[in-house]
Amino acid sequence: MMQEKKLTIVVPCYNEEEVLPATVKALGGILSQLMAAKQVAANSQLLFVDDGSRDKTWALIQQFEQAYPYVAGLKFSRNFGHQDALLAGMTKAVTDSDLIVTIDADLQDDVNAIPEMVAAAHKGFDVVYGVRNDRQTDSVFKRDTALAFYRMMGHLGVKLVPDSADFRLLSQRATTALLAFKERNLFLRGMVPLVGFPSTKVFYKRKPRFAGKSKYPLRKMLSFAMDGVTSFSTVPIRLIMNLGILIVIIGIALFIYTMVQKLRGNAITGWASLMISIWVLGGVQLVCLSVIGEYVGKIFTEVKRRPRYTIEKDDYTKSSKK
Ligand code: UDP
Ligand code: MG
Repeated sequence: MMQEKKLTIVVPCYNEEEVLPATVKALGGILSQLMAAKQVAANSQLLFVDDGSRDKTWALIQQFEQAYPYVAGLKFSRNFGHQDALLAGMTKAVTDSDLIVTIDADLQDDVNAIPEMVAAAHKGFDVVYGVRNDRQTDSVFKRDTALAFYRMMGHLGVKLVPDSADFRLLSQRATTALLAFKERNLFLRGMVPLVGFPSTKVFYKRKPRFAGKSKYPLRKMLSFAMDGVTSFSTVPIRLIMNLGILIVIIGIALFIYTMVQKLRGNAITGWASLMISIWVLGGVQLVCLSVIGEYVGKIFTEVKRRPRYTIEKDDYTKSSKK
């Protein structure tokens, strides 16, 4: 008989005290089912990564560890962000898990898709994307901006799986390959397709947040989108060059026009055109500088090679040994 595979479900949590009891029930139920049906090994786990929460999240995780043999916790020394929490969880889990599922704590993603993901993994797929086929419950604004974002990324040449976020299954070798990407500016949903290996999709209906508030306010969402663009594409720099060339051509045309007018003796009342060119060009230059600055900033954070996160407490390694 085939050796059963160990599954670890990684759950990043930031101030999630309101949903966690429901989350551990839902995920624990699914995991127990899978273990009972011998779809996954009996030592499979739920790994909650506390991303520096200020509420009772960590205390709850510790209670779960006492109550359920399959729960483990990892605690960051402060808030590092969703992507880093996922990365830390995967880094721990990959040491002894054959399959790793990542899922948000807020039960927006359908936990019933997990058995389907596991089944796909048994069929030999290394990457199983959770894809929302219904975003009715997201606000119109969030849906539209997300759609625009995926379209734009497509134009910029970044391969993303539309309507898939960080709910997915990765095999051990796919996770190892993903973890070999050493960048500090993490945009996991852009990195996973670069890993390769056989992949497939599992469709599910995205639900409203079970409880609590979104930890991604507009500001964070925009900065995440911006990171996605500038970490994966240099097309904006190319666009600046095209813009520069266009402006030079317009400049030359204006120069010729001005000379011709001058030679014909038509006095140019130059004040308006002068003001306009100064302000427009000044603005264009500032925008271009800031785009370049964004990339330089990226280089700056990359070359520092700072640790991506700091772990304060690690109950995964401890619990894996038991
Ligand atoms: N999260 C995190 N660190 C953060 C922000 C969010 O670990 O700094 C977690 C959060 O607890 C949740 C997941 O990332 O499990 C997704 O966040 P949220 O549901 O708030 O985002 P949304 O679904 O609104 O985009
Ligand atoms: Mg959510």
